[in-house]
Amino acid sequence: MPNASILIADDSPLVLRMIQKMLEEAGFGVVTARDGLEAIEKAVAEDVRLVILDVMMPRMNGYQACRLLKTEPLTHDLPVVILTSRDQAGDRFWGLETGADYYITKDSEPQRILDLVRNILAQGQAPSRERTPDAQRSSVDILSRVNELLDRKLFEATILSEIGRVARGLDKFDETFIQVMTLVARVVDFSIGAMAFVEEEALEVALMHQRRTAPEALEDAKARLLEGIHASRGDRGFRRMYARLFAPAGGAVGTEEPNLGGWACFPVSAGDRLVGMLGVGGRAVGRMTRDAEAFLKQVANQSHIVMENSRLVERLRNLSIRDSLTDLFNHRHSMELMDQEFQRVGRYPAHAGISLLMIDIDDFKQINDSRGHLAGDAVLREVAHVLKDSLRTVDSVGRYGGEEFVVILPHTPRDEAVRTAERIRQRVEAHTFETGGERVRVTVSIGVATFPSEGIDGPNALVREADRALYAAKEAGRNRIA
Ligand code: GH3
Ligand code: MG
Ligand code: MG
Repeated sequence: MPNASILIADDSPLVLRMIQKMLEEAGFGVVTARDGLEAIEKAVAEDVRLVILDVMMPRMNGYQACRLLKTEPLTHDLPVVILTSRDQAGDRFWGLETGADYYITKDSEPQRILDLVRNILAQGQAPSRERTPDAQRSSVDILSRVNELLDRKLFEATILSEIGRVARGLDKFDETFIQVMTLVARVVDFSIGAMAFVEEEALEVALMHQRRTAPEALEDAKARLLEGIHASRGDRGFRRMYARLFAPAGGAVGTEEPNLGGWACFPVSAGDRLVGMLGVGGRAVGRMTRDAEAFLKQVANQSHIVMENSRLVERLRNLSIRDSLTDLFNHRHSMELMDQEFQRVGRYPAHAGISLLMIDIDDFKQINDSRGHLAGDAVLREVAHVLKDSLRTVDSVGRYGGEEFVVILPHTPRDEAVRTAERIRQRVEAHTFETGGERVRVTVSIGVATFPSEGIDGPNALVREADRALYAAKEAGRNRIA
C-alpha cells in the first residue's frame, strides 16, 4: 500500500516530527495534527488509513477524539492507535473503552511503532472512502457532535446505574421486572419486551406489554425469542417452558398493533454458556441505530444480573412461605396474609369485609388407600390448580394442612363468597383427575364465613366459623357448601 496516509496527532512538535520522519522513511504518507479537534477534521477530510492519537492534547484529548471517530459513520472503520507516555491500567482501560483498536506507549522502541503500523495496514481494514463536499466538517459541527456524544454517554451511564438501583430496592420478581423493562423502554421504544432465563432443562420467559398488541404478535415474540435462544445454544431443547406476561402499572398503551414490526434480541452469556436473552419487538425496533443496539447489549447483561438476583431472592422467600407439594401458600403464611388483611381494613371495614373459604376433599383417604399415596399427591396438586384457576388475582389460596385448603377473599361480602365457593365445588366435581393413567373423580366440601358478621369479630373467630361451616357441609352429605 504505497500511498496510504497515516494521521498522527500530538501536541509535541518534537514527537510529531520524530514519528513523521520514521514513517516517511518507511514509505508512508503522513498527515499531522496538533490536537484532537484538528485530527478529526483531517480524518474526515483526507484519505487516511490509520490514526495515531496522543492522549494529552489541548482542546480535545486523544480519548475524546477516538470516541468521536468511532461513532462517526464516516470514520468508524478507521483503525485507531492510542499513543501515551504512561502505561497505566486506567489508561489502557479507558483507551479500549473509547473504542481504540491498539495501544502503544511512546517510550516503546520506534521499531515497535513501525511494526504495529505495518501490521495494521497489512490487515487492510479500512477501504478507501467516498468523500463528499459536506464531509468537510467545521470545528463547530464537531463540537456539537462531541456534546451529543457526551449527552448520550451520560444517558447510558444513568440507565445502567438505574437498573442496578432497582435491584437494591425490590425483591419481588414481578415488580423488579416491570421496573427494569420500563428502563429498557427508555432506550428503545418497544411494544413487547421479553427476558428469558435459561436453566439446565427449563426455560423461563417473562414478557411485558409496553404498547397494546394483538395476541398473534405476542406469540410471535415468544417464538422469536425461542428461535434466538436455539440459535445461540444449539439444538438442545427444554423440558419445560414457563411464560409470564406483565404490563406496566398503567397498563399497555396505544391502539392495538396487529403485528410485531421489528424484532431484536441480545444473548446474555456467562463464560461460554448462554444464560439468558433480552428481546424487544415493535415498530421502532426496526429503526434502531447501531449505537442503540450496542448499548442494548450492555443493558441486556445488566438487566439479566439484576433479574437473576431477584429470582434468587424470590426462590428463597418461596421456600419459607410456600407448600412444596402444591406450591400454594403454607398454613403459616396464609394466616399471616389474613392478619394483614384484617390490619388493612381495620375493625369496621367500610365496604364488603373479608370472606374465608375452608375447603376439604371428600373421602380423600379412599384415594390414598385404593390408588396409593403418590396418586393422592397428584390429586392434591391438581386440586390446587383448579383452585388457583377459579380465583381472582387478589384472592389467596393456601394449603391449610393435609387435604384441606384455605382461601382468603378480600373485599368480598358473604353472597359473593358463596358464589365463589359454589363455582369451585362445581369445577372440582367436573374435573377429571389423571393419576398414573387412571381417571378419578373428586369432590370437595366448603365452609364459608365472612367478617364482620354475628359472632365474628376477628381473624380467629373467622377461621373457627369457616371450620364449623365445613363440618356442617360434611355432615350434610359432602360435595356441598355451608
Ligand atoms: P372426609 O370426606 O371426611 O374429609 O374424609 P377424608 O378421607 O377426606 O378425611 P380424613 O381426614 O379421614 O383423611 C385425610 C387423609 O388425607 C388422610 C391422610 O393420609 C391423607 N393425607 C394428608 N396429607 C396428605 C398428603 O400430603 N399426601 C397424601 N397422598 N395424602 C395425604
Ligand atoms: Mg377430607
Ligand atoms: Mg381433612
